[in-house]
Amino acid sequence: MTLSSKHGRYVVQQHKSKNTHWDFRLEIGNKMLSWAIPKGPSINPRETRLAVLTKPHDISYNEFEGVITKGLYGAGKVLQWDKGTYNFIDKDKDIRDMFRDGLLKFKLNGEKLKGDWALVETNQNWLLIKMNDKYARKDIDIVKTKKKSVKSGKIINEITKDDGLITKQMDLGWD
Ligand code: MN
Repeated sequence: MTLSSKHGRYVVQQHKSKNTHWDFRLEIGNKMLSWAIPKGPSINPRETRLAVLTKPHDISYNEFEGVITKGLYGAGKVLQWDKGTYNFIDKDKDIRDMFRDGLLKFKLNGEKLKGDWALVETNQNWLLIKMNDKYARKDIDIVKTKKKSVKSGKIINEITKDDGLITKQMDLGWD
């Protein structure tokens, strides 16, 4: 992990497996650090969203949209819900310290999500929170109003094997 990196790629993949959730990923080092967000991101600062830290994914998976075959980890449909770049707001802090303190503050420059955000660690889990800025809105539920893929323009139920197909267990570089 390159701990001096303060910016990188960002992606959110809507994932309809056993449950629908949104996988929120930030490029740190040579991996995408990942949180599963059951309700998806909210641009309302009052609506904090549970974010469950999951296994880091390879950067090459960012572009995937399609179907993961039955029997594999994460079997189901994957849609590229948002993508762009991010940068940490506090440029002087070491990423290890930010993790230890359980507070990551960053700016997103995505197609859907923009402005200042925070991931905050609580007793059990992390929360994804929109910070108050000009991109915050209390009257829009963005996962309901913006359902389309930034890659194909499809919605999750329109995704088929023709969009992409994973038939072998991905090597995510796990231990
Ligand atoms: Mn997932």
